[in-house]
Order: sequence, then structure tokens, then C-alpha cells
Amino acid sequence: MTTSPLARPPVADEVDILLPGLCQLVQEYTPLRTAQSVPEELPEDGSDVHAILARMRVVMSGSVNIWTDRFLEKLYNAPTATSVCADMLLSALNAGAHVYSASPLLTEIELICVQGLAKMFGLGDDADGVTMPGGAASNTLALQTALANAFDGVHRTGGVLGIVDHLERAGRSGRGARPAILTSSQGHFSLQSAAIAAGLGADAVVSVPSDSTGRMCPTALKQQLEAMLGDAAHPQGYPFFVNATSGTTVLGAFDNLQEIAAICRQHKCWMHVDASFGGAVIFSPKWRYLMDGVENADSLTFNPHKLLCVTQQCSFLLVRRAATLNAHSIEAGYLFHKSGRDQASKTLGCGRRSDALKLYLSWLRYGVSGFGQHIESGFETARRLREYIAQHPRLELGPLADPLFLQLCFRPKGDSASVPVIRDKLLQQGKFAVDFAPVQGETYFRLVTHPRVPYSTFVELVEQLVQLAGN
Ligand SMILES: *Cc1c(COP(=O)(O)O)cnc(C)c1O
Repeated sequence: MTTSPLARPPVADEVDILLPGLCQLVQEYTPLRTAQSVPEELPEDGSDVHAILARMRVVMSGSVNIWTDRFLEKLYNAPTATSVCADMLLSALNAGAHVYSASPLLTEIELICVQGLAKMFGLGDDADGVTMPGGAASNTLALQTALANAFDGVHRTGGVLGIVDHLERAGRSGRGARPAILTSSQGHFSLQSAAIAAGLGADAVVSVPSDSTGRMCPTALKQQLEAMLGDAAHPQGYPFFVNATSGTTVLGAFDNLQEIAAICRQHKCWMHVDASFGGAVIFSPKWRYLMDGVENADSLTFNPHKLLCVTQQCSFLLVRRAATLNAHSIEAGYLFHKSGRDQASKTLGCGRRSDALKLYLSWLRYGVSGFGQHIESGFETARRLREYIAQHPRLELGPLADPLFLQLCFRPKGDSASVPVIRDKLLQQGKFAVDFAPVQGETYFRLVTHPRVPYSTFVELVEQLVQLAGN
């Protein structure tokens, strides 16, 4: 009889050496990143915990150290300790969040968070939702959910061909009978991926122009919809889904949800709001107006793992009408026993992690008011930094959102070409990291004043960039 070496109860070594060792490593750990690599071969035989701890040290020092506050490339930053602990608790529990029986309390916590967020966004009493592994996954499920609901249920059995057939019977013809989705030119690429995954194809995504501050032009949206609906054989297809963005990726713009909602209602389109990044403004009494009109959304994506300092992944897809999220449920007698509370049956997946626990404990720790102050401090930092850059003799600001959110685009005066070069030098120094992006035909650094990071750090980075520009 062979016993599995993995079958032992927790061994003293793991608890006495690995865990305290890991905690110590986190405290010692300071550079942004050092060049490290690991041996490529995987071993035939196992090793003791001291070897594991040594390898953990290598992994840590060779990885980006988010705790330095100097990794300013992306839309997330260092997680709070509460959320790290929540994550460790989840790992220790290792509960599958697909069915209620495997994770009863965690499922309840997920539903509490769904209701708490739905209330913040004003989605009403009939709202429902699930956590998803990221904003792109939430957007993809939103599109699938819209497809399943928008065409009298023909999609579930007939697929995209069933929809085309349905539209042809309703008088559409040729390419005009292909379902299409509209999103702004500043929308996230995941809408395109979602269209490909849904079998609609990338051609099904129609880009609506944005203004110079990054907001979708509602008039352009209206004209585009009217043109497509007015021509039964329109080459861009039949529009049924509009994606509005709250907090665009590059400029941080908030689309006008009130106007877009009115247009969607008039033209019977599903309204999705991608608030992956900007949704956190809902916690601030001062800034939540940026999302006025969100209460009309049919679905909404929000990522606590971006601005709320929850560990990755933590994303929610919310829907205004609970029944719409049941379109994907499948009979599987060996798993779903009609509890009605199995979160996986609302998704296209099976096994899931209870990511909501991380938001739940963070919400208990900081409250709506704490999240609100956090967001407000980010707005203030962005404003101060905008003034700093505007007055800088060697820098110029690029296009900005209005009102300004957390993204600042800037470059050495009149010089797009040096931006990627300076960034490479910066990365080589290994002290700071910042990203760049094309905006309206020019190239700019895109700095995100994440509220986790103090103002002085941003100034230090800007000065570092100026210095590298001079070399
Ligand atoms: C970050 C982001 C996404 C993607 O979220 P992931 O969690 O990285 O998958 C989608 N839309 C917008 C607007 C985003 O900012």
C-alpha cells in the first residue's frame, strides 16, 4: 500500500519554517526588481522546506515588488494586508465556489457583496451577480448573457446561426442579419476578445468616436445606431449591445451614462457598463455623479482588484434583472442539485474561487467612507501632479479626461519619439516603472495616480524621467 507524500497532515516544518520565513521575506524585501532567474528543469525528487524557502526568496527578488510604491505601470497597486490575509484564508480553505454545498458561507458572502455593490450602483432589488476572474472575463460573460437574452432565447440552442436566422425572419438580410456590438474608440480590448469568443467575430465590434477628453460621443452613437437599424442589409450588422466605459484605460474618461442609457432604451439595446477601473468612484459622495445613469445598466463590470487594493483576481459582473443571468445554466445531475444558489450555474464555468471574501473583509475594514476617502485622495493627487507637470519647463501634458480622473498623459515638450526610449532606460535602472500609450496620434507616458501611492513618489518619478530625457 503506497501512501501519498502529499497526504500527510500539515507538517511542523511547513508551519514552523515556511510561513514565518515567508513573512520575514516580505519584510526584508525592498528593490523594485532584481534580475534573477530560476533553473528550468523540474526535479525527479522532492526537497525539504529549507530549499523551498530559498527558492521563494529567488522568486520574490526576481519579481516586481509592488510594495515599493514605485511600480506605476498598471491600474492596480499594492494590496492591503487585510486582503492578503483574506486571500491566504481562501487558499487554506480551498473551497470550490461552484456549488452552495461546497462553500455555503462563502456563497452567502458573495451574494452579500453582490447586493451591496448593486445597491451602491442603484441597480435595484432584482439585481444579481457573480465574481469572475478579471474584468475581461466579466465583460465576456456580459456579452454572452446579452446574446442569450436579447433574441428570444434562440442563442442558447441555435447559437449565432440561430440569431441570424431569427433576424432574417424579422426582415434583416445579408450582413445586416449579423449581431453587432458598439463600444467607444477608447473602450477596452476585451470587448473585441469577447466578440471573437462569442462567435460574432472582431468585425462585429463597431467603434464609436470619442471626444478629445476620451468620452464616447452620444450623438455619434445615436447616428450609428439609427443608420444600422434603418438599413436591413447594413454592412456593419444589427446592433443589440452597447458598451459604455466608466474610467477608460488610457485617459480615465467617464462616458455619459445617462445619455447613453436613453439611447439604448430608445433603440432596445442591451446596455453594459465597463466600470472595471472607474467603478470605485461610486463610494465617494463627491465623485459618484460621474456614474449617474448607471442604474439603467443591464450589466456592469467592476474590479475591486484595481482601485480598492484587493488582491488579484477580484472582479464582479452585476446584472439588473436576476433572471438574465440564468440563461447559461446547464442540467448536470452530478453537480447541480437544484439548490438555486449555485453560483457556477450563472457562468460558463465550473470550479471557482470565492474572490468576494477579499472585498467583503476589506469592506468591513474600511467601510464605504474609507473607500470614498481613498478615491478622493487619488483625485487630489492627480490634480496636484497635473499642476506640477503643467508648470514644468521641460514637460507638456497630453490629452486629459475632464474632469480629471487618475491618469496623466505627458511627455518631454513636443517629443513623442523619446518616450519609449526613456521608459526603457527607466526600466533598466530598476527603480521605477511607468507605461506609455498612443493618444490621438502622439505617444505619452501614462501615469496612474493610484491612491495607494503618496504624491511625493510621483514627483520623484517625474523628475527621474526628466533627468533621463536629458541624458
Ligand atoms: C483593467 C480593465 C479591464 C480588464 O480587467 P482585467 O481584470 O485585467 O481582466 C477591462 N476594462 C477596463 C476599462 C479596464 O480598465
